[in-house]
Amino acid sequence: MSYDLDSAVKKVPNFPKEGILFYDITGILMNPEAFSYVIEKMVELYKDKNFSSVACVESRGFIFGAPLAKELGLPIVLVRKAGKLPGDLYNRSYKLEYGEAVIEVQKSDINKGDKVLLVDDLLATGGTLQAAAHMFHEAGADVTDIFSVIGLPFLNFKEKFKGIEVTTLIDYH
Ligand code: 5GP
Repeated sequence: MSYDLDSAVKKVPNFPKEGILFYDITGILMNPEAFSYVIEKMVELYKDKNFSSVACVESRGFIFGAPLAKELGLPIVLVRKAGKLPGDLYNRSYKLEYGEAVIEVQKSDINKGDKVLLVDDLLATGGTLQAAAHMFHEAGADVTDIFSVIGLPFLNFKEKFKGIEVTTLIDYH
């Protein structure tokens, strides 16, 4: 199975601000062949890894994490922006280019000893997924793998994830 994923990723200059090149994954979503390729690749990568759950990061991480979890018969854990989840929560703040953001996860969704796969659409600095991984570690779970459709390796995200296997399907330099 192969697919030219680059052809499905739209590159949008100056979005959301001047000087930023935005990698728009709606081109993958609008192309069923491209989307199937991504999910099939994920299944191939992770089917024998015996995860306890797939944790997806709001919001585009949900789109890729949920079909994988369904295929593998695994629970889906939602990692959401602050204020969206009810109940007892873990939370973690992380740095954005300007300011800070907070993400949260329900305590009841993580068990001590869980083996977790974290999923998002794009890895830039890795700050978002690092904050997510921190909440799982705090709960005594092990994040062994991280998946992102797109990676921007020049922002050095790998440095943040020593000991975690990080996989991206396409990198932009
Ligand atoms: P990081 O925390 O790794 O610096 O940023 C990654 C987060 O920002 C991801 O949740 C991702 O959805 C979002 N993000 C940043 N830049 C882009 C981009 O160019 N395209 C898309 N699709 N998402 C981006």
